[in-house]
Amino acid sequence: MRNSAQAAAYVFGAKPIVDSIDALQKLAGTGTQRGFTTTTPTYASINSSTVGVQTAAFSDLGCPADGESQNKAIAQLKAELKVRYGVYIYSGDLTDEEKRAKFSGQKLTACEELNAIYSLKKELAKYPPTYIRYTKLDEIRLIKKLKQDGNDWGGKACSSRSEACPIENSFFVELDDNGEPWGFHHELNHLAIKREQKFPIGDAEWVNLNGPEGAELYEYQWPLPAFNLFDRRTWKYFDINSRPQGFAERYGTVDADEDQATVAWWLMNKYQDIMNIAQSDSILYAKISLMKKRMKERSGNLMGEDYWNDLANGKVDENYWINRGH
Ligand SMILES: [Zn+2]
Repeated sequence: MRNSAQAAAYVFGAKPIVDSIDALQKLAGTGTQRGFTTTTPTYASINSSTVGVQTAAFSDLGCPADGESQNKAIAQLKAELKVRYGVYIYSGDLTDEEKRAKFSGQKLTACEELNAIYSLKKELAKYPPTYIRYTKLDEIRLIKKLKQDGNDWGGKACSSRSEACPIENSFFVELDDNGEPWGFHHELNHLAIKREQKFPIGDAEWVNLNGPEGAELYEYQWPLPAFNLFDRRTWKYFDINSRPQGFAERYGTVDADEDQATVAWWLMNKYQDIMNIAQSDSILYAKISLMKKRMKERSGNLMGEDYWNDLANGKVDENYWINRGH
C-alpha cells in the first residue's frame, strides 16, 4: 500500500443507503471504549449482503468538493465497515487518554480521511469477515505523523489496555506519503498473534524456522537501534531489497512478532514479489508456508491455496468474499 494508486471510487455518488448523516453516524457507532455514550446501532437499512456493493465510480479528483458530501461518504463507509466487520474507524482529534499515553500526531483532513477509509475498505475486503472477527479488532485509529513519547511509529497494535495502550483490541495506523494506511496488514497480524498466545516467547514453531540459531537471530532490542535511525524516505528497514536472508524485511529481525507481521504484510500487499524472492530463500519460504497455514486456520479454512491463487491473479476485489458467500 505504500505506493498504491489513489482510490478511484467512493461511496459518494452511489444511491445513499441511509439518507441523513445523523443516521449514518449512528450506524458507524462511536466506539465502545472511548468513554462516550454509545447507542446500539440500528441496522435496519444496511446488512452484510448489501455491504460492498454500494460503491460507484467517482472521478480521481480525490474528493467530493463540498464538506457535507465528504462527511456523508465518510460516515457511510464507516457504517459499512462497522456492520460487516464490527470495526470502528476513529480519525478524530487526539483524545485525553491518547495524550496521557504520550501519543502525538496530526488529524486527517476530510479528504484524506475519505481516501484512507476507502483504502482500508479495500484492504479489509481481502479477508473474510470471520478472519477479522477472530483477531477481535474493535477499532482502527487513523492519524498522520504518529509518534509516541517522541518516537516515530508507523502503527501500533494494542491487544490489551495499558497505560501506553488506551484502547484495547485496536491499532493505530499512520498514513504514508500517499495518504495510504500502509501498516494495516502488519498491525492486524499483531492482533491475530496475540489471540494465539505465542508472543513474546513460546512460538517455537516459528522461531525454529530460522535454523540452528533460532531466536538468537532476533535483536530483541526495543527500540531497535536501527529502528531509531530509519529513514522514512528510503524505507530502508522495510525494503525487500535490503532484507537479510530468511526475512521479508530488515525490520523483521526485531523479534518473532515483527518477523511474522512483516511476512504477513508482504503476502497481503505484494504477494507475487515475496513469493518470487522466496523461491531462492528456503527459510523465508518456510515462514510464508507457516503464515499461510495460520491464516487459513484463523479464517476458518477459507484462506486456502485457492485464495492465494486468486490474490496472485488480481481476483481479490472488494466483492470477492461477498461473492463467495461470506
Ligand atoms: Zn510491528
